[in-house]
Amino acid sequence: MANFVTGLVCVLCRTQFSTRVGYTCPRCGITGILDVQYDYPAMAKALTRKKLAARADPTHWRYRELLPIDDRAQLPSLAVGWTPTMAADRLARHIGVRELLIKDDGRNPTGSLKDRASSVGVVKAAEKRRKIIACASTGNAASSLAGMAASMGLRSAIFVPMRAPEPKVTQLLIFGATVLRVGGSYEQAYELCQQSCERWGWYNRNCAINPYLVEGKKTVGLEIAEQLEWKPPDWIAMSVGDGCTIAGAWKAFRELKTIGLIARTPRMLGVQALGAAPVTAAFRTHRPMEPIEPKTIADSIAVGVPRNWKKAVMAIEESGGTMINVADDEILDAMNYTGRLTGVFAEPAAATAVAGLKRAVAEGLVPRTCRALAVVTGSGLKDVRAARRAVGNPFEVPPDGSGLEEILARQELIPTAKSAAHS
Ligand SMILES: *Cc1c(COP(=O)(O)O)cnc(C)c1O
Repeated sequence: MANFVTGLVCVLCRTQFSTRVGYTCPRCGITGILDVQYDYPAMAKALTRKKLAARADPTHWRYRELLPIDDRAQLPSLAVGWTPTMAADRLARHIGVRELLIKDDGRNPTGSLKDRASSVGVVKAAEKRRKIIACASTGNAASSLAGMAASMGLRSAIFVPMRAPEPKVTQLLIFGATVLRVGGSYEQAYELCQQSCERWGWYNRNCAINPYLVEGKKTVGLEIAEQLEWKPPDWIAMSVGDGCTIAGAWKAFRELKTIGLIARTPRMLGVQALGAAPVTAAFRTHRPMEPIEPKTIADSIAVGVPRNWKKAVMAIEESGGTMINVADDEILDAMNYTGRLTGVFAEPAAATAVAGLKRAVAEGLVPRTCRALAVVTGSGLKDVRAARRAVGNPFEVPPDGSGLEEILARQELIPTAKSAAHS
């Protein structure tokens, strides 16, 4: 058995296709996103909790039966996935929920959850004997693809918009990618990448349209389930840009239930930045997504034309979850208190999930009595400038230490003159 894939189905017209079709539905065109289908009865026989427990592999390839890859496929050497899921009690108190967990996906090799998708992308490219793989990205998908390509010995061509943060662009160059900075928006970079892939036959890593990449994103959900001993939390908060990540995570829970590894699925809380929230609008109005001009500090989710909005909306509805928007101030604030209360450094798009959970609890959308989990999708070290806006500057102290005591007292690191007099 090479893998359990049975075919592809269009999310719009529901027509089934063989895996030989291209990236999108031959009938619906570019909006007809395809979804990978599997032989679940066979998968259920092949994969049990016990079998998984016996696997030592601390990467997301431990779930290969649930992925569209052959068992003899060449895999990148970089260790993707199996990121920690940890208790965040002080953050739980701050947010006002009974129990809160954090899944720290900033711990992936290139620093974001995108590694889960890119790693499957390079495996598929190698399988198709393609030597060049391309993508358009606001940053993380690109640095991730470049890293995975370097790990597999493939070339990468990356189209980034003008406002991609410098650290992410630097990461691309370090991984040897050919970086094409498009003097325009993400949408324009995306179009140029599509055209180039068609023209020169490169493998297209654009997550929204390449159905196999979302499969890689599933593994975040698979890990949450296994790490919590097959008892997923009540709510999972994730930020939403194109929509692939939350759709992928939800697919994991649906599949785990189908093959009998979990009994109950979580509700998904999709969070968008107020200035880039076309998916939330579609979710609330039950109408097709309308493109917007994105404006938010959370660059990784600043998507004006989300290609996978339909998959995301369907996933959130099916889970019994909901969507919420948060302002940039709330995102910066969440970077600050998440770091302070957990030791996890989240980039703006990742802190968005935490900010959304806080707001959803305050508004009564997520009950205070629940067990919640927020996925930190990317490391804050990728965009230190945004982080400095959240936390300000260090104290300046001359070498002779003058003024040091006043600062320490104000920071409550040493007793103040007043409290010392009392004791
Ligand atoms: C890409 C990304 C997201 C959102 O994923 P989509 O699939 O675009 O919805 C969230 N956080 C980070 C850090 C990302 O890089």
